[in-house]
Amino acid sequence: MAKYIFVTGGVTSSLGKGIIAASLAKLLQARGLRVTIQKFDPYINVDPGTLNPYEHGECYVTEDGAETDLDLGHYERFLNIFTSQANNVTTGRIYQTVINKEREGAYLGKTVQVVPHITDEIKRRMQLLGQNNDFDVIITEIGGTVGDIESLPFVEAVRQLQWELPEEDSVVIHLTLIPYLKAAKELKTKPTQHSVKMLSQEGVHPDILVCRTERPLSEELRRKIALFCNVKQEAVIEAADVPTIYEVPVTMMREGLDLICLKKLNITEYNEPDLVKWKEFLDKLKYPKSRVTIGLIGKYLELQDAYKSILESFIHAGAMNECEVQIINVHSEYITDDNVAEKLTDLDGLLVAPGFGHRGVEGKIVAVKYARENGLPFFGICLGMQMAVIEFARNVLGLKEAHSTEMNPDTIDPVIDLMEEQKKITSKGGTMRLGAYPCHLKEGTLAYRIYGKPVISERHRHRWEFNNKYLGLFEKAGMIASGTNPGTGLVEIIELPAHPFFIGVQYHPELKSTVENPQPIFVHFIKAAKAYAEKKTEVKNPQLQSEMI
Ligand code: GLN
Repeated sequence: MAKYIFVTGGVTSSLGKGIIAASLAKLLQARGLRVTIQKFDPYINVDPGTLNPYEHGECYVTEDGAETDLDLGHYERFLNIFTSQANNVTTGRIYQTVINKEREGAYLGKTVQVVPHITDEIKRRMQLLGQNNDFDVIITEIGGTVGDIESLPFVEAVRQLQWELPEEDSVVIHLTLIPYLKAAKELKTKPTQHSVKMLSQEGVHPDILVCRTERPLSEELRRKIALFCNVKQEAVIEAADVPTIYEVPVTMMREGLDLICLKKLNITEYNEPDLVKWKEFLDKLKYPKSRVTIGLIGKYLELQDAYKSILESFIHAGAMNECEVQIINVHSEYITDDNVAEKLTDLDGLLVAPGFGHRGVEGKIVAVKYARENGLPFFGICLGMQMAVIEFARNVLGLKEAHSTEMNPDTIDPVIDLMEEQKKITSKGGTMRLGAYPCHLKEGTLAYRIYGKPVISERHRHRWEFNNKYLGLFEKAGMIASGTNPGTGLVEIIELPAHPFFIGVQYHPELKSTVENPQPIFVHFIKAAKAYAEKKTEVKNPQLQSEMI
């Protein structure tokens, strides 16, 4: 039987519940337990797939094609496991299920209500992953902040589940903020006290408080928090700010978060935590031997969460190369032929990001041209790959009007076109080509060298594709399809063999990069950027070069 850990948040949003939950899961996993994490989000969208990236950041996609909250990305990156649709549930999905059942007549004439029908459905979903005895511990992160109207049914479901389960089968962790008031020169506990009071009023009492703080919590302060919030003093955990999220498991271990949970859950069989690989990664991350500058060309740059998985993939790949990756955000809307050289000149590599709609695409095309003509390592993801195809069509093949029908439905050269199966789809939610598909790699290509095997599987989220009617023209002129879907022939990877490193992928490789398994394209891209940077220094300092020889 699985045991349950619930993680709620108080005082304010953005305290990093997902990271705390993932870090705890990592520690329990490192102790030999089978762990998974799920996230329950209180918004009405059935999934975040229809949300603009400015709303909640990136939409993360799982193997089974679920469009999910970006916290699932943290779970996968920390734990090196796959999550699925079952790991992310929203209020919208809960209501949809209940309403569908009502329409089928499943409630036999009863009045359908938040309690018990909505809360029953929440409880059913909370226990779904525990059904087949696959896990020892299931961590459930409740989105939102305690006290919000919309998170009430979730807290009520936690209350009911705690009542139903044996005492030692569940534990509640509440994440709060202990703000430092500069004027008073003091850390303040009142917001935490209020937040715990609010949670208690809703019927749930936290066993453990994880306190986000900029300053260390003294013993005296811990005692005060413990006393007024009615938790054991050892259950007041300090979560101090750290330079990287990947340090949080180590700081949580130091604070004993995992051991307190194990004690409360009465789990007695566990090992000393094996964090050898994790710490190796942290060392490489902290003490890099070189540094590269990568330009991230996108249009949602005001919100860094919009490109979360890409940024994390760079951290993994950088550590693997013992290289610090400095990301420079370049807003694609402001790149023009006149300023491109000036904007991109200091870069050692260029990543053109995924995206939707026409805003900013011309700037992306200009940036690709610069990378192609100047031998600058280039990596295009999804829309970024499509822009590389359009750039090549316009500037090498001479098809001046070439475009994607997403941006120009009437283009005379639709080198990127809507996928056939998409043409009859009108509904927006969950209808893209989503999730993992296999891809065959051509031997002797850059893609093959990067992956080192003939068949790979990567995750997707798109409606448009390379128009295969043009493939012959492209390949003759030097842009090849090095990866294709075995069933449909859909072009998954394009590259320029004559360029030092130029690759565009229709899929989202960033979704499968983890601390333990950095994604290979990112790893090789950083390697190529390092080589480019070294060459640049040689050219700039011929004297230094000769001295070194
Ligand atoms: N808008 C493009 C498509 O739907 C690219 C999508 C993406 O970058 N994820 O095909």
